[in-house]
Amino acid sequence: MSWPPIWPVASVPRWPEPGARRVHILAAGIVQGVGFRPFLHRLAARLGLGGWARNTPAGVEMELEGPPDAIEAFIHALRTEPPPLAAVEQLDVQPMAALGETSFAIRPSTAGSAATLAAPDLAPCPACLREMADPAGRRYRYSFINCTDCGPRFSILRALPYDRANTSMAGFAMCRDCAAEYADIRSRRYHAQPNCCPVCGPHVFYLDQEGRAVPGDPIALAQQALAAGRTVAVKGTGGIHLACNARDEAAVLRLRQRKHRPEKPLAVLCRDLDTVRQLCILSDPEAALLQSPRRPIVLLQKRPGTTGLACLSENRRLGILLPYTPLHVLLADGTAGGPAALVLTSANRPGCPVMTDNAEALDGLAGIADGYLLHDRPIVNRCDDSLAALWQGREYFFRRSRGYAPQPLAMPSDEADGILAFGAEQKAGFAAGRDRHVFLSQHIGDLKNAETLDHYRTALETQLHLFGITPRVLVCDLHPDYFSTREAQSMAAKRGLPLLQVQHHWAHMAACMADNQLEGPAFGIVWDGTGLGSDGSIWGGEFLRGGYDGFRRAGSIRPVPLPGGDAAVRQIGRIGLALAWDAGVPAEVREALPLLRALPGQTALLAMLEKGIACPGASSIGRLFDGVYALLSGRVDAGYDGQAPALLESLACGEIPGRDYPTAYGPEGEVRRFDTRPLVAAVCADIAAGVSPAAIARGFMDALARMALEQCRALNPDRLPVVLSGGVFLNQYLLRAATRLLEGDGYAVFSHHRVSASDEGLALGQLALAARARQTE
Ligand SMILES: [Zn+2]
Ligand SMILES: [Zn+2]
Repeated sequence: MSWPPIWPVASVPRWPEPGARRVHILAAGIVQGVGFRPFLHRLAARLGLGGWARNTPAGVEMELEGPPDAIEAFIHALRTEPPPLAAVEQLDVQPMAALGETSFAIRPSTAGSAATLAAPDLAPCPACLREMADPAGRRYRYSFINCTDCGPRFSILRALPYDRANTSMAGFAMCRDCAAEYADIRSRRYHAQPNCCPVCGPHVFYLDQEGRAVPGDPIALAQQALAAGRTVAVKGTGGIHLACNARDEAAVLRLRQRKHRPEKPLAVLCRDLDTVRQLCILSDPEAALLQSPRRPIVLLQKRPGTTGLACLSENRRLGILLPYTPLHVLLADGTAGGPAALVLTSANRPGCPVMTDNAEALDGLAGIADGYLLHDRPIVNRCDDSLAALWQGREYFFRRSRGYAPQPLAMPSDEADGILAFGAEQKAGFAAGRDRHVFLSQHIGDLKNAETLDHYRTALETQLHLFGITPRVLVCDLHPDYFSTREAQSMAAKRGLPLLQVQHHWAHMAACMADNQLEGPAFGIVWDGTGLGSDGSIWGGEFLRGGYDGFRRAGSIRPVPLPGGDAAVRQIGRIGLALAWDAGVPAEVREALPLLRALPGQTALLAMLEKGIACPGASSIGRLFDGVYALLSGRVDAGYDGQAPALLESLACGEIPGRDYPTAYGPEGEVRRFDTRPLVAAVCADIAAGVSPAAIARGFMDALARMALEQCRALNPDRLPVVLSGGVFLNQYLLRAATRLLEGDGYAVFSHHRVSASDEGLALGQLALAARARQTE
């Protein structure tokens, strides 16, 4: 077994009485369909123990008999070296009277046995990779090699229990050789449901631009097309990607143009760590995360001096992943002259979910893809790549999806059982509680798009069905116009269920508390784009005191006027103008600002601001970022989501020290507000005076971090633990600066690790709030 276990044991087992010669053990968690019984068999043989094991509806039940130290060693191994896909969450050990049993047997499963949790899709394990590289083996260069430790799981799963008949492998009957492995407890493919080989399993094929089959080795054909600068559609685990040679600038630009994706960063699949190091700076923990069997895209810092990276990402980072299926290993191995670094970007229509179906790809990618590397195993559950940075030695999620979903979060109690949380809208994500587990959706996207809303509905139905969850309480955002709110209302009406609506930023705070298993009370610093406040206005720069029972809005920021409301979110130049106007920037400074020379319709916009017509205020740090970025860059229109913070972060991370900007508060009121005007005025004066954008960007974010500390000192005198949440904290410069200042002042600071700080992780907080509300009813 060469994969390390990827999931820790959540609970400490009760140890048997010293000297016990026979024990009964119940192991619960992800313990079925993951090679657990063969592992027990090998372990018992190694330690010379007798007894038996079997699957039950509750998990795996076993009895062991032998010398007490061997029994202790067995239990220790259960905790420390379970199979990589297993997650032993509970271990109950009871002493029994010895029976004199000396051999170990696997007993038939008890009736009603069901794997009640499902594993995520994992990268090929080292043993499978070795076998795939062996010319004498029957799976030499076979794209679908897998075993009990690795391979597809969630993406092929239609129903539980996890049996082949319930997966998209149902159409592939095992050949004699594969069936023999499947039945042999000594084989590493014992009960491996997707077990297959070239004789009996799925196959890849290569199609040309017109969708005609091309004879020859499909992998070699794809490598040659990539080497020639072409764009190839590649069917992966949870969706179809577009690939091209990442080191061929013309190919990358062509892909961007065809996909209408001029600026948004592209992820790069690298053959190996050496290739990664040519592109990026790589620390050991980042290398470990890249190599983890979950294989997320990891955000790394570009290597200075490497040319040709600007076309991949306009900011200082690059999203990198290592091959996550045998097919990608072969595609990137260069044996037919293919490149070692491939752009890998979701194949989708603008705003739509990633494509999963061969026919859909052939139809929808006409004019975009020059060739298609596809296969005949259907994708059941769409699952985009996960995206994470490394923060405090662990994942910091931008997107928690493939390799993680649908692995549930283990909770300290079952108080969220039967609760369904609907999340937000632009970065949608739901959460469902069952027993002591919370199941989170894979990446969904923006529900304002009809196809994405369909994806959300399908994913929700699928997870409820898969995990046998019957919602009894529903919870959603306060915002009446979110599609997720409407979905919740419609389900509540249809099923006659209670529906709780909770404030957006409070839910963020609760999400970060639940992420860190904090009981509360806490002090929440919640900064994001927009969310509906309890007073009907738009919030997003919040300082909240409270816990799961309730909260008080202690602090915020001066509202940023948004001329034209949503129009200002799309045209960020309007926010820049509004900030300058609000700050009373003098005319001679305003005239020197590149933005105000480029922004159309200023007279009308200024009239709107003067009269306060159609200018809703948003006390939002996200909008403040947009406006300052527009002023600094001279850019009128918003690009992709997250562009402004990513570019400001890039600017700030050089050698140039930041400017020292003022922070001010007032007027005095119930909510202590950061007054943005002196900061904005100073930023505008610097821009007009030609100060370096790097110094301004850094000074701006340093001022925000300092403001977080000053607000905390003023509003959190009793030093409650501080939780940082909201999409603004995806900005790593700000996250690091705020954490450093707050911790330096002696506060206990918590940020996200199990779910995203963005709206994608919001549902966890909604769930926690509903659980408490139900308890106190
Ligand atoms: Zn394997
Ligand atoms: Zn076979």
